[in-house]
Amino acid sequence: MSIFRKPKYVTVQTKKSSIPDGLWVKCKGCNDTIYTRKLEENQKVCPKCEYHYPLKASERIKMVVDDKSFQEMDVNLKSVDPLGFVDSKPYKERIKQAEEKTKMNEAVVTGIAKIGGVKTALGVMDFSFMGGSMGAVVGEKLTRLIEKAARDKIPVIIFSTSGGARMQESTLSLMQMAKTSAALGRLSGKGLLYISVFTDPTTGGTTASFASLGDIIIAEPKALIGFAGPRVIKQTIQQELPSGFQKSEFLFDHGLVDIIVERKNIRNTLVNILQFTVK
Ligand SMILES: [Zn+2]
Repeated sequence: MSIFRKPKYVTVQTKKSSIPDGLWVKCKGCNDTIYTRKLEENQKVCPKCEYHYPLKASERIKMVVDDKSFQEMDVNLKSVDPLGFVDSKPYKERIKQAEEKTKMNEAVVTGIAKIGGVKTALGVMDFSFMGGSMGAVVGEKLTRLIEKAARDKIPVIIFSTSGGARMQESTLSLMQMAKTSAALGRLSGKGLLYISVFTDPTTGGTTASFASLGDIIIAEPKALIGFAGPRVIKQTIQQELPSGFQKSEFLFDHGLVDIIVERKNIRNTLVNILQFTVK
């Protein structure tokens, strides 16, 4: 008799160990469990708490530019190791590992694209390559991008995410702050637009240079934006830090960020600004 038969379907297993790797993730924002595919479909934004997960440079470029319009610049510019720097590992080895892991040559991708039909110089950083750290190549690629924009009289957009200057390059990485800032100064002198977009996290020398110099500064929601980390500041000033310190919303309230834009609206926002401001 059919009612005594075992059900054909398999009981859904709820034990955590039975979940294959990568199918579910525990959200960093709300600790809830999210289906990885849902996260991918939602541009890597948690559908429950809207935590904006980091994106690869390639994903962000695809999200922002007009279809197939991106032409990459300086693809083969690679970091060298002028100081022969060794911490727990030689710097050369770290670069090699980062290249293998990310299939990228450096922590920033630059190029020319059309956004809403407007020719734009676009730079996008990638945190997965050595924490988005700014070494001589990151600075050089961005400077060449900005200088090309100045020559071609087109606007610049840079998406930042970075742990700051690359310590393995010491002073050479710190000099990139001055170099990129000077290039932006020349761009500004020609009356050309620069839009900076802060994404989570942007800190150190990147915040202290080109990322904070936008004519228009955009931030993704709840992104960590700062120079030194909160613990260092707390120890230095010996005071409790206000709640929400170093988050996009806090910086917006204090006038350092102009607009907070959710990922799903970023392309439209950039298109509107570009079409409104660029003749
Ligand atoms: Zn969440």
